[in-house]
Amino acid sequence: VEEELMRAQRLESLALLAAGLSHDLRNILQPLLIVPDLIRDRSDDPKVIRLADVIAECGRRGHEMAESMLSFVRGSRQPSESVGMSRLFQAVGMLLKSNIPASVELHLEVADERLAVEANYTELQQVLLNLCLNAIQAMPNGGQLRLVAERAFDPVAGEQLCIRVQDQGVGMDEATLQRLFTPFFTTKSTGTGLGLISCRRIVEGLGGVISVQSVPGQGTCFDLLLPLSAELAADDGERPAAIPGGRG
Ligand code: ADP
Repeated sequence: VEEELMRAQRLESLALLAAGLSHDLRNILQPLLIVPDLIRDRSDDPKVIRLADVIAECGRRGHEMAESMLSFVRGSRQPSESVGMSRLFQAVGMLLKSNIPASVELHLEVADERLAVEANYTELQQVLLNLCLNAIQAMPNGGQLRLVAERAFDPVAGEQLCIRVQDQGVGMDEATLQRLFTPFFTTKSTGTGLGLISCRRIVEGLGGVISVQSVPGQGTCFDLLLPLSAELAADDGERPAAIPGGRG
């Protein structure tokens, strides 16, 4: 409990810091979004144009970072609805299409069409996109990206919805696993290190848990355990498989 409290306090002060920072950053970056256009209008020199493009790209990326930091920090509860897994997976698959190299095979599987969770659609979609994009980036040589939604039974929480995102990528060593959910921890040159921590915030906000298993050189598997939407939870259905290792 003490550790949880410390984590919450750390996040709280981090949130304050980040809110101020992203606000200032947006203002500082403003010229970078306008000036490149002015330069392009006034010059025919291809070298100058290229530099203008570089500045514009930096401005765009910086702006995006500031935005994502702000929305992460706001963390306000968004309106929720019953989000069906079939619809969600279809949308995620469509959005991923342009980001998936030919060497990565996407496998989508919804065990029961009625599977749903009470959540904000956009937020939950963002969680899956984050996890999938990480998975794709972890498979530079290709492999299978599996997205599975199924029932799972937890001895404490009862019937749950399990969403699994599994890749056959580079995997993670123990040191990386330890720091995975630390804000700003990234091993990528263009990473923000905010993807997984915001995934966890959203999942925990829904009363769920996120857990990870990874083997270096073999791949990584993220499990989201979420409360089943009410109508399904009342439905006995088939006896679901037990979750190996409990709630992780
Ligand atoms: P970012 O993607 O911006 O680096 P994240 O919080 O999403 O931030 O991820 C933090 C780090 O965790 C990544 O830089 C990467 O090292 C590691 N990671 C996340 N997902 C995977 C994965 N599926 N396979 C291997 N490493 C991963």
